[in-house]
Amino acid sequence: MKKQYLAILLALSVLALNAQNITGFKPENVKKQLDLETAFESNISTGNLDSWMKKMAARPHYVGTEYGKENAEWMLKQFKSWGYDAKIETYQILFPYPKVRILELTEPTNYNAKLTAVPVAGDTYTEQGEELLPSYNAFSADGDVEAELVFVNYGIPADYEELEKLGIDVKGKIVIAKYYGSWRGIKPKLAAEKGAIGCIIYSDPEDDGYVRGDVYPEGAFKNKTGVQRGSVMDMPLYPGDVLTPGYGATEEADRLDRKDAPTITKIPVLPISYEDASPLLEALQGPVAPASWRGGLPLTYHIGPGPAKVHLKLEFDWQLKPAYNVIATLAGSEYPNEWVLRGNHHDAWVHGAADPVSGMVALMEEARVVGELAKKGQRPKRTIVYCAWDAEEPGLIGSTEWVEHHKEELQKKAVAYINTDGNGRGFFNAGGSHTLQTLVSEVANAVTDPQKGVSIKERKIARDMINGGNNKFKLYALGSGSDYTPFIQHAGIASLNLGFGGENAGGEYHTIYDTYTHYKRFKDPDFAYGAALAKTAGRIVLRLANADILPFAFDPLYETVSTYLEEIMKSCETMRKVVEKHNKLIGENAFYLASDPTKPYFEPKKKESIPFLDFTPIQNSMTSLGATIALFNAINLNSLSDSELEILNKKLMHSELALTDDSGLPRRSWYKHQIYAPGFYTGYGVKTLPGVREAVEQKEWPEAQEQIKKLAQTLNKLNNHIESLCVLAKKK
Ligand SMILES: [Zn+2]
Repeated sequence: MKKQYLAILLALSVLALNAQNITGFKPENVKKQLDLETAFESNISTGNLDSWMKKMAARPHYVGTEYGKENAEWMLKQFKSWGYDAKIETYQILFPYPKVRILELTEPTNYNAKLTAVPVAGDTYTEQGEELLPSYNAFSADGDVEAELVFVNYGIPADYEELEKLGIDVKGKIVIAKYYGSWRGIKPKLAAEKGAIGCIIYSDPEDDGYVRGDVYPEGAFKNKTGVQRGSVMDMPLYPGDVLTPGYGATEEADRLDRKDAPTITKIPVLPISYEDASPLLEALQGPVAPASWRGGLPLTYHIGPGPAKVHLKLEFDWQLKPAYNVIATLAGSEYPNEWVLRGNHHDAWVHGAADPVSGMVALMEEARVVGELAKKGQRPKRTIVYCAWDAEEPGLIGSTEWVEHHKEELQKKAVAYINTDGNGRGFFNAGGSHTLQTLVSEVANAVTDPQKGVSIKERKIARDMINGGNNKFKLYALGSGSDYTPFIQHAGIASLNLGFGGENAGGEYHTIYDTYTHYKRFKDPDFAYGAALAKTAGRIVLRLANADILPFAFDPLYETVSTYLEEIMKSCETMRKVVEKHNKLIGENAFYLASDPTKPYFEPKKKESIPFLDFTPIQNSMTSLGATIALFNAINLNSLSDSELEILNKKLMHSELALTDDSGLPRRSWYKHQIYAPGFYTGYGVKTLPGVREAVEQKEWPEAQEQIKKLAQTLNKLNNHIESLCVLAKKK
């Protein structure tokens, strides 16, 4: 009886083990991999995360600072001590430092903007005075302008449509826009396109100040003096060093003249606090802003223009600065020429405890344990490369220059790139190449949420379902905003971006208040989620590094692309209906009849009708692709020998490259990926199937039809690639 019981237990546990089937591993290798991952997880220490953050975020460390260099050298030493072959790769990049910053209200009253955040009690890091980088927007143009002010809400395309309806033109004016609503660089870009001569961006208390919660130091949110720094480089055109587009900014590289650099803004732009914004907004008259534009300040939001007039003078010190990328390599025992890349940036605007140090220290702890395990004989089969990027904040510069410099080699050897950045507390967020969705989903199932004790996947799905989503784990699509951009969108390397958040809201982002003290009080106080990040990313890295068959799965990609296509087709239909209705209402004089006779009336213009696009080339390509994927999925890859798998893997790891086109996207050839790109007018926000989608949104119909053909060709390329995988797999 007892024996029987034991036998059943044994059978059950074998079943349980089999149930933990992990994609990419032959059944006989699953246990070994899971044991390795368990050993890896059990060695992750939150104490290291805490002490390393305290060290790295002790002083400001933006690109070009002594402390930034010290951090890079310290990390180099750490990686070496863990058994990595580590080096610093340096690029010479253009970095503007603010020399003159003047903003004053000159009419109808006078006010000189203070442009300085105050130190706060209980946080000594905020008292470092001169060492704190003055608040500014990097890659603003130099300029000295004076003009009437116009309030443009978030300064995004929809806001300018609203202004047009009100008959307000920003030509020759200075605009003031709220932060949020889009990536900040879109605001001066659009303002300049509309003819404005200057741009001010401020943080409204409704978005990250007292409307949201208590302000620092009482609470986590922005006090009246806090200012968000940040780059306004035209990254949707190309990120990285503004003077060396498409190639590495090495010492001897050819450089553009600064006046010819297309990614520096056309007009001066300056970020300010809500203390400095209040008198400016208060001095505006003209129409009252639409209800949705009004923020949380105790004033009536008027649009202007004027009578408020402002003087904005900005001058920068434009110098080449060294950017130090730390690159640490652990050579693989079997396939040293297949690289799993893992990165986070190390530069910050000021102390950057949350952004980026919280992610950087998680990466380092992960690297430490992977290195220690290798020393004890558990060396990964493929090479793992840990990267600490410099100059991410001014425009993804360190990573972009490195990718551009080593593009050919990377396209040959890279298996995937896994990115992290600032980390918080709460829910697992993962974006990236949909061929990696199955892998990430399985890993998310294996990592435990530190607060609730269920898997991080279960917790994420619970929240998704509460918010109206379904119970499927999905990766979001990558736009831009961190160092994955050059890997996926320029070099065509499968990429992921991972992090935790949702329970760590605050207003410290890119201000002098993003300190160790703030992080410990309001973000992830015991570094439990820092450890969870190290565990999640580490498992993904170890699976990619040891897999028998690289865990790329094509079904999730196919399903996702199908959804994107449906979205675009549907949006064409919606646009058509909206235009038809608009024109009909004009014909019936409805806008005039519905207008308030005491307010100025502007007759709306008739809109051009929306033509029918022919989507059949994409639909046909998708049909063939679906059939080929089914064929590939039906092959039992486990029956292949190691040497056959080696050949297959070499091809499998280049699947993402098939989704790129060397001619790139219209008007921005740097962006090669045909499935994911940051939006030309959204910045960080992603545009999926960007060639087609943006042409439709911009109503460029001939271009849309051309892009449909091009996308069909790209999908055919992937189809051919998977067909060649099928041939290889069957040819045993
Ligand atoms: Zn960051």
